[in-house]
Amino acid sequence: MSAAARAAAIQIIARKTPVAAETRAQNVPQMFGVNVFGAEQMRARLPEAAFKALRSCIDHGTELDPGLADQVANAMKEWAVERGATHFTHWFQPMTGSTAEKHDSFASLENGRLIMEFSGKALVKGEPDASSFPSGGLRATFEARGYTAWDPTSPAFIRETKNGATLCVPTAFCSWTGEALDEKTPLLRSAEALNREAVRLLRLLGDDRVAYVFPTLGCEQEYFLIDRDLYVLRPDLLATGRTLFGAKPPKGQELEDHYFGSIAPRVLAYMQEVEFELWKLGVPVKTRHNEVAPSQYEVAPIFERSTIAVDHNMLCMEVLKHTAQRHGFQCLLHEKPYAGINGSGKHNNWSMSTDTGENLLEPGRSPAENMRFMVMLAAIMRAVDLHADLLRVTIAHAGNDHRLGANEAPPAILSIYLGEQLVEIIQALVAGTGRGSERKKDTMRLGVSVLPSLPRDATDRNRTSPFAFTGNKFEFRAVGSSQATAKPNTVLNTIVADSLAFLAREIERLKGAKGLEAAVNEVVVDLFRKHQRILFDGNGYSAEWHAEAERRGLPNLRNAVDAIGTFCAPKNIELFERFGVLSAKEAESRMNIMFEAYSKAIAIEGQSALSLARTMILPAAQKWQLTVAQSVGAAKQAGIDVKAQERRLKDLAGRTEGLVAAIDDLANVFEHAEQHSGSPQEHAKTYRDKVVPSMVRLREVADALETLVDDSLWPLPKYREILFLQ
Ligand code: ADP
Ligand code: MG
Repeated sequence: MSAAARAAAIQIIARKTPVAAETRAQNVPQMFGVNVFGAEQMRARLPEAAFKALRSCIDHGTELDPGLADQVANAMKEWAVERGATHFTHWFQPMTGSTAEKHDSFASLENGRLIMEFSGKALVKGEPDASSFPSGGLRATFEARGYTAWDPTSPAFIRETKNGATLCVPTAFCSWTGEALDEKTPLLRSAEALNREAVRLLRLLGDDRVAYVFPTLGCEQEYFLIDRDLYVLRPDLLATGRTLFGAKPPKGQELEDHYFGSIAPRVLAYMQEVEFELWKLGVPVKTRHNEVAPSQYEVAPIFERSTIAVDHNMLCMEVLKHTAQRHGFQCLLHEKPYAGINGSGKHNNWSMSTDTGENLLEPGRSPAENMRFMVMLAAIMRAVDLHADLLRVTIAHAGNDHRLGANEAPPAILSIYLGEQLVEIIQALVAGTGRGSERKKDTMRLGVSVLPSLPRDATDRNRTSPFAFTGNKFEFRAVGSSQATAKPNTVLNTIVADSLAFLAREIERLKGAKGLEAAVNEVVVDLFRKHQRILFDGNGYSAEWHAEAERRGLPNLRNAVDAIGTFCAPKNIELFERFGVLSAKEAESRMNIMFEAYSKAIAIEGQSALSLARTMILPAAQKWQLTVAQSVGAAKQAGIDVKAQERRLKDLAGRTEGLVAAIDDLANVFEHAEQHSGSPQEHAKTYRDKVVPSMVRLREVADALETLVDDSLWPLPKYREILFLQ
């Protein structure tokens, strides 16, 4: 890699044009879900009784009998083979934050003849040799093998490549002793807990129609694109997903001309192909646009049942990455690929729906609906206030530290934004006076009052809030762009289930003496009073808010390591165990894995930074220093006045010395961190406290040199090239 390669890449990029998609969208409704073994395929290919039994498994979580599994497997295989599939895989989400798969062909030998076969047994259960997945100490090596179990609630799908297709069966991943080794199992458990508690509470409120409640999710996914010819010249991006060096470009995002700007042709062609692929996979993507930072974009789907939306977001990230290559791009999902430029997040839009088609966070039109809405609001306020620490853990992650701590993304302090009108109503309820404006008086009794219609206008929103009510859903905005959404949603479902259970218990307790409506009023208003400290509508970036939050006693877990440490607090373990979402052992293993993931991420960054600084940046700086020294020496001999140049040379030499010192420092602290023995938490703290600051110091020196060294010597593509060439 060299400065010459950098110059050549720029010439190549200048001539690139949009790439045509492999398939075109002729008819989107027809295209949608062609690669999914969905209800239609099941109905068409299964005997009616089998289809009904399978639907019941999917809708009500009933168990699948082995005979049915054989029928389903066979139908699935027939369909997949017709679509060109030769292999199948159990597709699962180990605790690495990504997905895993191991492919087997349908091939089987029968009397020396090869046949294509897929048994119920193979569909329902798999045994990948998965001893290398992180288990956080859950598995001793002798029982290292986990197994995957079919999750019939998430439809199987086919992934196509140029040379064929693979049937992917979404599965859960467990140890032989029954512990969850994945992110999907706790998510399914939490959705079940939410269903149970929500239905129970709705019954209590007099609703006898709703039989089933499920969480819904729509993930707005942000990402960056970089031209692949530049990407391959950045070893830091290749190894860590972010640039460890790079001086700020003369033009950053100051002009704000990128946000919602017209989409560049090559990028649009890429987005279109991503959409085709996702539609075929049954992922209902809907929105595309340029984001705030240069070369930053967003794609958003129509929301779905959250257990499926979580899988779909994994597919979305995968398709974004795979498709990019065909278009000569690399898709960066890292939370902070570039210093000084906005990072990427993933807005986790969350709500609860009923089997009768209602959204429980929709402010209603009738008094009964209003009461229900206020009850749900109270439950969520209690949930977020009591368990802000847990929500914070779900977004704790080395990459996300660059956003949450800085003044660009939602802050590390969890608070809820409700908008002026709702806050006014809550305050009036809490004050309990009923005097004041008519509207306030109106809302004094939840059961008979009518809420004013609430604005659903984007302009009203507070972009600095980590957890905002946006009309009929909550938007958890602090999730990192590269993160799997299973964990945040598992926690959201669980803490809300807990609050719904609390409300039900309290209302039941008071109902006998006071009647339902008064009981609901009392419990809800009491919760509003107790938990109103979690409401904040101001600027979440401001220093005043930090001070104010501290006064209110809200936790401010500034970095991932601090946050992760709270995961196994006794109250959290009690909560997880009470709802059967995670056992103490499972929770502890997850905490260890999060610490280890943090340490590994920083270790890789430290190593990459060292190697880049030593082998690319220092040589360039030394070459330039030598060139300057020679030219100053020659000029001096020729009798030219070079005092100013000599000062420059001295400065350059000083900076180059500084670079060497910074390299040595990082090498030292890095070695110390590597050898550090102690708990995963202690280890992570060492990386945070020693390696991260040393990397920051090294970067400062190197970035300053980038602005001084002859451009034709600089081996790394610069921000101005990466961000603006397309
Ligand atoms: P924006 O927040 O950018 O204004 P929208 O409000 O239209 O955009 O929605 C953003 C995301 O929220 C979309 O993915 C959408 O499907 C999702 N969403 C909308 N309603 C719900 C809901 N009831 N539950 C979960 N997600 C929802
Ligand atoms: Mg949004």
